[in-house]
Amino acid sequence: MQLSHWEWDSFFRDIDVLIVGSGIVGLSAALALKRKDKNLNIVIVERGVLPSGASTRNAGFACFGSVTELLDDLDNHSENTVFSLVEKRWKGLQRLRALLGDQQLQYESLGAYELFKSDEASGFEHCADQITHLNKKIAPITGEAETFSINKEGLAKFGFQGIEHLIFNRSEGQLNTGQMMAGLLHLAKEQDVNILNGLAIAALHERGQSVDVQTEQGWHFNTKKVLVATNGFTNKLLDLDVSPARNQVLITQPIQNLKVKGCFHYDKGYVYFRNVGNRLLLGGGRNLFKEQETTADFGITENIQSYLKGLLQDYILPGQKIEIDRWWSGILGVGKLKKPIIQQYSENITVAVRLGGMGVAIGVLTGEEGAECVLRG
Ligand SMILES: Cc1cc2nc3c(=O)[nH]c(=O)nc-3n(C[C@H](O)[C@H](O)[C@H](O)COP(=O)(O)OP(=O)(O)OC[C@H]3O[C@@H](n4cnc5c(N)ncnc54)[C@H](O)[C@@H]3O)c2cc1C
Repeated sequence: MQLSHWEWDSFFRDIDVLIVGSGIVGLSAALALKRKDKNLNIVIVERGVLPSGASTRNAGFACFGSVTELLDDLDNHSENTVFSLVEKRWKGLQRLRALLGDQQLQYESLGAYELFKSDEASGFEHCADQITHLNKKIAPITGEAETFSINKEGLAKFGFQGIEHLIFNRSEGQLNTGQMMAGLLHLAKEQDVNILNGLAIAALHERGQSVDVQTEQGWHFNTKKVLVATNGFTNKLLDLDVSPARNQVLITQPIQNLKVKGCFHYDKGYVYFRNVGNRLLLGGGRNLFKEQETTADFGITENIQSYLKGLLQDYILPGQKIEIDRWWSGILGVGKLKKPIIQQYSENITVAVRLGGMGVAIGVLTGEEGAECVLRG
């Protein structure tokens, strides 16, 4: 199909910045560009009917790292890198809350807990030994002297089975992912950002002062600048160290007298669960089936379903009749380094991608830095 003159003239002519991807990063970048200059013609193209990657499919943890996750990060990155990222996640959450407001986000400061099973005593002891050091490093960031503490009350309160230890993080919270994205979409439309859904970009070619944009539908158009915010799908467009990583999630039907309240991390953050009102959301386990889950294809698999159901029945809601309402998956963007790539890719193309499992926390800041980079380039 060819573009008509009218379609080109009204929707694709004189674009100042084309943003590819309407996730949290693409939308935040559009808002930041409009704040700099409200006359910029900003178009976002999104291949899905809704944003279709991670931003509408995540767990809604407002988090900056559990103890096992931080210790694992410290094994692979310098202290400076790890705590700079904690700071970015913390500041990013404050920025998100300031932008949308806690009411829109349905933000709740219930704190977060990390679980250790009965046979993980040595792992727990190692974490417990590190709490003082981590608290000291994090205090200047959160303003809390004791971000992490060993928690004994939760063991009885939440009704778990086979869980021997909990570490509490008082500074984490939870939000409503759908309302976060609805709020960002609303703000973008209010600022006259044109969001075109159902349009996938197949390739980008530099053409001197502009970029030629080839669509999967077969037609082309031009834009002065492009910001690529495609996260886990980036390697289909550009050559960068970003791999897709699928995450599978379930939510139960409402549970009477659900005792679990707050956010819960297990196994270096690879498993996560929380209450959503009186339902329980549980996801993760991709590290157990790494090859299978290194994919940009959405889908649910029997092995992860059986792993997550086992955790529910044996540890989280033991002895309770549980009905699962819905399963879904989302795609993360990960790489060798656990930090986003925000840089000029070529003369007129900028990227803001690779948010790992942290995009609720750092998505707005990443979009804003991406916007700065576009304007500098
Ligand atoms: C199951 C799950 C749970 C998570 N839980 C949390 C959490 O609790 N806390 C947290 O901080 N983070 C969490 N994350 C991570 C967080 O959701 C992501 O880091 C964040 O949403 C990434 O935002 P983004 O805008 O970079 O990418 P995305 O939201 O993936 O947006 C990229 C968009 O680009 C579009 N796109 C891709 N290619 C093209 C193309 N060629 N043409 C047009 N459009 C294209 C996609 O359709 C998509 O909408 C979770 C992620 C998943 C999957």
